[in-house]
Amino acid sequence: MSSATPSEPLKPPLEIPDPATLAAEIVKALKYRDGKDAAVATKDDWLTASIQVVRDRIIDGWIASTKQDDDSGAKRVYYLSLEFLIGRLMRDAFSNLGFMEAMRAALGSLGVELDEIATLEPDAALGNGGLGRLAACFMESMATVDLPAHGYGIRYVNGMFRQEISDGWQVELPETWLDHGNPWEFERRERSSEIGFGGSVDAIVSADGQREQHVWKPQERVLAVAYDTPVVGWRGSRVNTLRLWSGMPIDPILLEAFNAGDHIGALRESNRADALSRVLYPADSSPAGQELRLRQEYFFSAASLQDIVRRHISRYGELRSLPDKAAIHLNDTHPAVAVAELMRLLMDVHGIDFDAAWDITKRTFAYTNHTLLPEALESWPVPLFERLLPRHMQIVYAINAQVLLEARMSGQFDDCQISRISLIEENSERRVRMGNLAFVGSHSVNGVSALHTQLMKETVFADLHRLYPTRVNNKTNGITPRRWLLQCNPGLTALAREAIGDRFFDDIDALRELDRLAEDAAFREKFAAVKRANKERLAALVATRLGVRLDPSALFDIQIKRIHEYKRQLLNIIEAVALYDQIRSHPERDWTARVKFFGGKAAPGYHNAKLIIKLANDVAKVINRDPSVRGLLKVVFVPNYNVSLAEMMIPAADLSEQISTAGMEASGTGNMKFALNGALTIGTLDGANVEISEHVGDDNIFIFGLTADEVTQRRSSGYNPRALIENTPELAQALAAISSGVFSPDDPARYRDLVSDLYDRDWFMVAADFDAYAATQRSVDAVWNDSPDWYAKAIRNVARMGWFSSDRTIREYANDIWNVPL
Ligand SMILES: *Cc1c(COP(=O)(O)O)cnc(C)c1O
Repeated sequence: MSSATPSEPLKPPLEIPDPATLAAEIVKALKYRDGKDAAVATKDDWLTASIQVVRDRIIDGWIASTKQDDDSGAKRVYYLSLEFLIGRLMRDAFSNLGFMEAMRAALGSLGVELDEIATLEPDAALGNGGLGRLAACFMESMATVDLPAHGYGIRYVNGMFRQEISDGWQVELPETWLDHGNPWEFERRERSSEIGFGGSVDAIVSADGQREQHVWKPQERVLAVAYDTPVVGWRGSRVNTLRLWSGMPIDPILLEAFNAGDHIGALRESNRADALSRVLYPADSSPAGQELRLRQEYFFSAASLQDIVRRHISRYGELRSLPDKAAIHLNDTHPAVAVAELMRLLMDVHGIDFDAAWDITKRTFAYTNHTLLPEALESWPVPLFERLLPRHMQIVYAINAQVLLEARMSGQFDDCQISRISLIEENSERRVRMGNLAFVGSHSVNGVSALHTQLMKETVFADLHRLYPTRVNNKTNGITPRRWLLQCNPGLTALAREAIGDRFFDDIDALRELDRLAEDAAFREKFAAVKRANKERLAALVATRLGVRLDPSALFDIQIKRIHEYKRQLLNIIEAVALYDQIRSHPERDWTARVKFFGGKAAPGYHNAKLIIKLANDVAKVINRDPSVRGLLKVVFVPNYNVSLAEMMIPAADLSEQISTAGMEASGTGNMKFALNGALTIGTLDGANVEISEHVGDDNIFIFGLTADEVTQRRSSGYNPRALIENTPELAQALAAISSGVFSPDDPARYRDLVSDLYDRDWFMVAADFDAYAATQRSVDAVWNDSPDWYAKAIRNVARMGWFSSDRTIREYANDIWNVPL
């Protein structure tokens, strides 16, 4: 195992002000910035003032970091992502600056409780799930390891929808996180860019008469206005920038149209610009396919590239050195159109010829693939792409010609393989393949776990990998231990510190020293007490929010993530139903008390995912009120899963459910957060579960089910779920109950189709894995009942998860992909 070098703070830690100074600053901010007297200030006012005080202190470091990078001519990393699921920022900043206790005392002296105002901060939900949260962890780690980096994305006015559960069904409501202003952001009008859409392309002869030059004349233009948020690294070592673009009309109101009486038409341009940064498409792992989505992708890619090019030119005066000074990273294919946009800027605006431009482009870009699901790969109909981005369409054709020429010249491919390499899908409808564009336009293409990268080489990118065999590489995902241990689990942090000192604050691998304490009965008891306190906190939240009383001594079994068939919440629910049957049929047995928690949002148009939420709630209703289970089994669905809820639930978990169909979860990062917080994992050999099991050891994890190879094999050799179900009485009985309306007496047919699909097709292999899953759950019970053994395993999980720090991941990106050695 490679051990990263301990991250000594590169600058001395910031001086921590005393509470009295901070208190005075808070009162001053309240008065002179917000015009409020302390006597009438609301909790929201205190929150804003506290953020302003800390923000002021971040700004010095921010300016210093930016100046240092400008002066040194350091290479910068630009991380382009349509999502940044950053959550709340106040604790992050307090904790990374080391201000937490001083701020707590300062607020306390003013009669304000820090933890109380902290929960009022809106959760910046600018992401769907894992992909967006990864970008947020990467931003924090890049600042921590002292890497000059900018994140680029969209400032969605309404980010991810807020989920309410009404009568068991998901209801989507707008998230209004900006309603009370956002003290973290700085508007930068001077950093605005004009972004064009549509129109036509003229071909002219270049000034020197040597070449044909293209001029794009967009029909429509909008402004992209920058909003910057500072991102503070651990111990304030560096402050980087997250720059989010907002759409603005160039002419807020077309007066000519307005005066002519066309009041709606006069605002059309304004509405179009506004729509660009209004909502994040709520589909995770499946392309939205809407014109607005392509507009959003081009809007933020083009604004970011203009910014990068402008910065480079102002310092170096030319663009040929761009790859030496800028590494542009594409987080999935959403910004892949940036490849064509950089080519356009290099050729059409800066007069560089195709070959040189193509060389610069490839050396500048790198791309991370996040999914293998064929239906999830982005592609755009050629007519739409051409209408919106006519010049980019020409450039895509030119790139394609070059790539197909290289493929033919290599002599390795038949026509069928050539057609898979092509950037244009030629089947029924011609489409631009964004994955192929990102692949050919980048010098590095990485997967996010060892298994995912292997499968990428064998499946989606098999032909492109053969053509460019050195391009694909693996960078297993990680999570920032600051947010996902130090902040979310102060109890465990304090316990570890008491036991092994605070070296792990700076070098997470030092957690290893906890390993030997797994054998120490006194330490195990303290560890169990911390877990217990976290569970009580979660039980209190469930009691207030859902009115369900939970026993904190029960095993807390948690599955929180987007609702998706491949993640198999359904397998977990069916197992709950089977267990419910068993408890009722054999009340004399020694059952283990367990609470099954679920949480997660479903894409609003994803019928089965929404039905699975309803099923979890229907099953919960029946089980929770049945006296014959005597509280041995409870099921709860916690609404509106987001980063803040994750921070509350993960430290309270005993068991982490990571049960996707093998081969379908690219990595997972929820799995890492749970293990770092001392939950044992029940999971398949999928995504990063494989590497987690290697790190924590086979004895400290519950692995079950088909492997990815076995799934492929079963699918290709006539998988017959019906026969299988009919031979598995527990499963058949649970499915019969669900299908016949035991849990939905008001609508007995509600789940008929969901269940019949398991009999007829079962693409996600729920039936094939059911027995192994249920049996493994009973071994979980057995270990749980041997409490010293359970906590020894849990402690070993915490001790051995250091490798999954996103600092390690970022160092690998920096060394192997971005060429900014750390
Ligand atoms: C970590 C995280 C995810 C990703 O979870 P997976 O289990 O890896 O899918 C999604 N949403 C939130 C809010 C998270 O914090």
